[in-house]
Amino acid sequence: MLVFEKSKAGRRNFTLPPTTVPGYSLNAPKREAKTNLPELSEVDVVRHYTNLTKNIYGVDNGFYPLGSCTMKYNPKLNEDVAGMKQFSQIHPLQPEYTVQGCIEVYELAEKYLCEITGMDRMTFQPAAGAHGELTGLLLIKQYHKSRNDEKRKVVLVPDSAHGTNPASAAMAGFQVVTIPSKNGNVDLEQLRQAVNETTAALMLTNPNTLGLFEKDITEISKTVHDAGGLVYYDGANLNAIMGVTRPGDMGFDVIHLNLHKTFSTPHGGGGPGSGAVGVKNCLLPYLPAPVFEHKSILTDRPESIGRMKQFYGNFLVVVRALTYILRLGAEGIVETSQHAVLNANYLLHMMKDQYQVSVDEPCMHEFVLTLETIKKETGVSALDIAKGLIDNGIHPPTMYFPMIVHEALMFEPTETESKETLEHAAAVMAQLKAEAYSNPEARKAAPVTMPIGRADEVKAARQPILTYNFKENA
Ligand SMILES: *Cc1c(COP(=O)(O)O)cnc(C)c1O
Repeated sequence: MLVFEKSKAGRRNFTLPPTTVPGYSLNAPKREAKTNLPELSEVDVVRHYTNLTKNIYGVDNGFYPLGSCTMKYNPKLNEDVAGMKQFSQIHPLQPEYTVQGCIEVYELAEKYLCEITGMDRMTFQPAAGAHGELTGLLLIKQYHKSRNDEKRKVVLVPDSAHGTNPASAAMAGFQVVTIPSKNGNVDLEQLRQAVNETTAALMLTNPNTLGLFEKDITEISKTVHDAGGLVYYDGANLNAIMGVTRPGDMGFDVIHLNLHKTFSTPHGGGGPGSGAVGVKNCLLPYLPAPVFEHKSILTDRPESIGRMKQFYGNFLVVVRALTYILRLGAEGIVETSQHAVLNANYLLHMMKDQYQVSVDEPCMHEFVLTLETIKKETGVSALDIAKGLIDNGIHPPTMYFPMIVHEALMFEPTETESKETLEHAAAVMAQLKAEAYSNPEARKAAPVTMPIGRADEVKAARQPILTYNFKENA
């Protein structure tokens, strides 16, 4: 029930006594139109929101292996620092000399993230990964334009890329050409045939969405460079490689990071996020304003692509990222990705007994199962198994993605889960598979422990009702 539906006309949180000031009436500044705010007592409001918090599921509730999304635990220290009033109670139009500490946060975050990625400079304007992709592609567009090389209109995207990659390329005004993969990796022969004088860039997700590190990565970037194109690194999966290897050293010209994923800001509820974009020096002139240098905010950028967001991007996400990096230190950063990869391989190893893996080899930070055979033999689908996990207190993995795998379930356990949690999840998955054969109808009925059962997901996606209709419900 919505808070509006609980409203009772005239019910109040508190009421003011009549004024004792002669000749003064509180009625004077009264609104003319009704505000449509719900009318409730304090306890009604508290109960409403407290009960809502019990209906959500986050990484603080339990295991959340949502592939590609890196739902790692977000240390609470980050929140303490982001909540400091020196960071949270500032205004973007404040004079520069009063926010020197905040500028230093940006400069330090840029320094460390460039060190981790092997890039030269970074912008924190974009508000999410996909926004970073758009920014990076506009930088590439501007690069070719400045060289009067405007026939470069094609962006190459492997079929194992994240869906946002082709979408961002199309939004930036490029034509998208798909490169097929072979055994889960970019098919180098196909890439060689696809590159030519119209190639603006290749966008690569690495490790790719199958959780595999691209074997020919330096050859891939060289092939595109030799044809005059640039190479874009989708760094959303940085949790698998940070501190171990650097996209800049693999030849990449531009990368976006999802600070909310790899560098631990709570996400999944729709933001705020940060899709920081790192570039090599060849793209530096085109970066959006502002950039930070020597504790100054520089906005005079004549060759820039322009702003991607008002002011400075989502600052507190950067504060959390910097806190996270400083707390882990150089060694901790390396260990984090090593443990993420170890955890994924341990879970993969246990699940392999029961389920078919899309590509049967060691994975990076995530892996993809295919339930095609189980579906054929029992009628129980990847969706049914995912819903069964909900009844067992586990958030479902990413489903039906990547599209090149049928009946896909994509698990990313992250580094913060214990051995016991992983073993429990593997045991639950084994149980669900056994039940798919012994009692398929029960599997298809899941979830049965939640406030609602199977939602009509197609209708929810096609005809979402996102606002309360006061007229209809009056
Ligand atoms: C999450 C993700 C994106 C998009 O990032 P958002 O922050 O959700 O916009 C892009 N690529 C990959 C591989 C991702 O996992």
